[in-house]
Formats: sequence, structure tokens, C-alpha cells
Amino acid sequence: MCGCPRVTERPAVPADDPWRALKRKTRPLVDGAIRRLCGPPLHRAWGVRTHGDGTLPRVVLTFDDSPVRSGTEQMLDALGGLGVSATFFCVGLNARRHPALVRRIVGEGHALGNHSLGHGRYDGLSPRDTTHIMACQQILTDLAGVRPLVYRSPYGRYTPWEVRRLRTLGLTAVSSNVDGADWQRPARPAEHIARDVLGAVSPGAIVVLHDGYAGLDHHEASETALALRLIVPALEARGYTFVTVPTLLGLPGE
Ligand SMILES: [Zn+2]
Repeated sequence: MCGCPRVTERPAVPADDPWRALKRKTRPLVDGAIRRLCGPPLHRAWGVRTHGDGTLPRVVLTFDDSPVRSGTEQMLDALGGLGVSATFFCVGLNARRHPALVRRIVGEGHALGNHSLGHGRYDGLSPRDTTHIMACQQILTDLAGVRPLVYRSPYGRYTPWEVRRLRTLGLTAVSSNVDGADWQRPARPAEHIARDVLGAVSPGAIVVLHDGYAGLDHHEASETALALRLIVPALEARGYTFVTVPTLLGLPGE
């Protein structure tokens, strides 16, 4: 699941603004309810893909909150050195800031995924609005010349109607079944990230890691890049091959 929080500075609530103070107070309750209703336990029932064929030794590395300076470059350098492909779930506004990185991702043989326009916490709850999906789709298609086939919701939240409309828009809703939890702060050591991933991978696994943070222009992801150098050789020694999400799921056009 993508827990990757958006990093933004929030101004202090003025003491004389009771409405904003109430909203701030009730937000954890509302978020908790949404997490229970829209979180991973129900994803598969709604058609969100959490993994691929469990009989073949294939695994997918995915990166959320792409692209950012430093973090995406570190990941591309590591993957290139290891000779494996991955899937980068891009935030539309990040992609617009870093078009060269989007083109580098595709140019080096990786797949692009749609991770919404601005990583909004509540976008997928809207009954009708598809701006968060389509605006990102347009940015990525214009920059890379290829149309993403997969979408991952920010914060790992899906509603049944979001999954249905993604299907209508030609996108497959994707989550994950292995989490390196590298979004935690302070940064987890590479050995811990690798230990958790290697302990959880099974055939058809979709692993979620992070090269960026939504809303940030620059992000250091050196522990994640180092973890890749531990994870990839260890899984190759177990007979795994690395593929992209569209290949794992056999999506049309791939
Ligand atoms: Zn994210």
C-alpha cells in the first residue's frame, strides 16, 4: 500500500477560527473511517490488482510519487546498473516539473503509472470528478508519448466507483502486496527495507517503494537505492525475473 504522505507545511489554526479548529480536530476520525472503508482489505473484492500470477517466479518493483530530483535519478541509476525494469507511478504535478525525468524513465525501458494529478487525500471519493486521473494521464502521455495503463491511488484508498471509472477510462487499478515502508521518517536503513521485502515476496508480487514525495521537488532516497542492490541479486538467486506491472498483469497494449 502506498502510505506516502504529502509533505506540506500547514499554517497554525488561528485561535479565533472555530470552524477550522473543528475540522482539524475531527480529521483523524474522518481519515480513520475512510481508511477502514477504502483501505486494502476490500481492494481485491472491488477489482484492484494487488499481485499477478502466483505460479510464475516474476516480481514487480514499483516506485511511488515520481518523479523528483535526486530520488528518481538514484533509482534509475541503480536499476540500470542491475539491468532490471520497474514501474514508476508518477504524480502529474511532479511530472510537469521534471519532464526530462519522465522521458528518462521511459527511455530506459521502465513503465509509467498514473498516481493522480496532485496526490489528493480525498480525490477518489468524488462520485463524478475524474480530473485527478485524466489531468495526470494527459501530462504523462504528452511528455512520454505513451499512455499509462495502470493507476495507483494515493494513500492506498479506493472506492468501488473509482475502480469502475478507471476501468471505463482504460486504466487498471493497482495496489501492492509487499511494502518496503521506505516512506517512514527518519529514513529506514537499506538492510531493513530489503529484509522486509525479501521476507514477503512470493511469485507474482507487486512491491511498493518510493523514489519521491508528492509536493517535493527534491528527495533523497539513497537507502531505497541501496536496498535495491540487496533485493535484486537476492531475488534473482531465487530464480525471480523482474517485469513491469503491465507485463505482469498481461494488459492489452503491452
Ligand atoms: Zn503516493
